[in-house]
Amino acid sequence: MEKKFVVPGEFLGVQEEYLAGEGTFIEGETIRAAVCGSVSEKDRKISVAHEIPLRAFGIGSTIIGRVENIVEPVALVSMRISGSLTEEDERFGENPDYAILHASMIKKGYVRNVRDEYKIGDIIRAKIVDMRNGEMRLSTDAEELGVIKAFCNKCRHPMRLEGRILKCEKCRNIDNRKIAKDYRKAII
Ligand SMILES: [Zn+2]
Repeated sequence: MEKKFVVPGEFLGVQEEYLAGEGTFIEGETIRAAVCGSVSEKDRKISVAHEIPLRAFGIGSTIIGRVENIVEPVALVSMRISGSLTEEDERFGENPDYAILHASMIKKGYVRNVRDEYKIGDIIRAKIVDMRNGEMRLSTDAEELGVIKAFCNKCRHPMRLEGRILKCEKCRNIDNRKIAKDYRKAII
């Protein structure tokens, strides 16, 4: 089997043919990668050996991340390599790489707190603007960057974009974010 690099959520095989090994998870009938790494198969068991795709990241790379924590004035963001955002791709696996997003890098104009623009659990699209001392620094200051899926901070339900306002259909909470221009207008 050729060495293949996969990212979390990527399809590896079907349960009818394979067994789910380390670094994978089962979704319905399919086996998918739970971590970034290389795929191997032995005795019909598929595994993914965790590897950090350092070469995949560089200054200027666009990443899809999830806001894991906010310690003002910065957000800690877990990352996966950019690509389309589908439901299964929202798994961020156990990638230990974190990047930092400072409030001042969120958008044009003064942002005092990260919490004014992002909430924990938000899925954002960001650009790597600096890599120093092993730290990756992000920016979301561009039209296509910002939140692509926001979650209600009261009930965790995904929020729907109405005009420029995000609305929770479950509890009616409204909120705002630095929104990417292609924020999903319809969330199922
Ligand atoms: Zn809500």
